[in-house]
Amino acid sequence: KSQGSRQACFYNPELDEEVRRRRELAADLKAALAADDGQLYLEYQPQSDISLSRVIAYEALLRWKHPVSGLVSPELFIAVAEEYGLIVQVGNWVLGTACHEAAGWDAGIKVAVNVSPLQFSQSELPRQVRMELDRTGLPAARLELELTENALLADRDQALRIIGSLKTLGVGLALDDFGTGYSSLETLRSFPFDKIKLDRCFIAEPDAPVEETAIVRAVLALGQAFSIPVLAEGVETEEQLAVLQQEGCRLVQGYLVGRPSARPDFTPSYLHAGAALT
Ligand code: C2E
Ligand code: MG
Ligand code: MG
Ligand code: MG
Repeated sequence: KSQGSRQACFYNPELDEEVRRRRELAADLKAALAADDGQLYLEYQPQSDISLSRVIAYEALLRWKHPVSGLVSPELFIAVAEEYGLIVQVGNWVLGTACHEAAGWDAGIKVAVNVSPLQFSQSELPRQVRMELDRTGLPAARLELELTENALLADRDQALRIIGSLKTLGVGLALDDFGTGYSSLETLRSFPFDKIKLDRCFIAEPDAPVEETAIVRAVLALGQAFSIPVLAEGVETEEQLAVLQQEGCRLVQGYLVGRPSARPDFTPSYLHAGAALT
């Protein structure tokens, strides 16, 4: 398929091997969920408001330490979970764990949770969210769900309904990986997002062509027009931060500000150590 729809392809033993590997991963993931023995855990990466030098939220990022193979990439095992019908179970585990852990943090800090397109369309997401908020005592306003545009494509009316219910609950909605999907403008017009996360592929390097900065500038203007704050993903260098700051982007996430960590500092007075942010 990767060679296009009009390509014929002869039997390929490597493909067989790949299928077998994914099937095994799915079985192991299922076992990990059932055992709940620490193979699955969350890391948290800070999202910061650079105008206040303050962490405003942490994004929960799922990790899987396989007993034999070690850390498995989330891109891989999330895709496998979707393929083998495990994504709702995985997603519910993440939601429940993140709400539970965040309930113990300082009240000013939100938790952001990724929701995969299949999880969005197949599970009774609003009911599940409500249940986890009730169970953990996390106020709805401190939970933000990160969706990609792919989640909104399949059944538009259903997507509008689900999003409406989530907004009624009072949780925040962020549009993840902005710019990498299609129909971005229509999405912003039709769905009540609270945050735009500009994908890290648009975060310019210092010697990048001027067009790169133009994209950042355009998305910031778009956010302003819709009154939706824009967060820049994947900020790794002081130079990138300087460009963003100059363009008026206040919200950033990336290795420069903080790597995902299983034990970040959640105390209320926590400020950035980075000199760039003071
Ligand atoms: P995402 O939601 O866009 O998360 C951001 C990814 O960028 C994370 O990768 C994060 O570690 C990485 N990142 C953050 N800052 C930087 C930076 O400065 N430079 C670079 N190069 N990368 C940076 P990670 O943790 O490998 O997750 C990859 C993707 O897997 C996520 O993309 C998300 O789509 C998915 N994912 C992770 N956890 C979950 C989950 O609990 N549920 C679902 N459905 N998807 C998840
Ligand atoms: Mg995300
Ligand atoms: Mg993203
Ligand atoms: Mg991504």
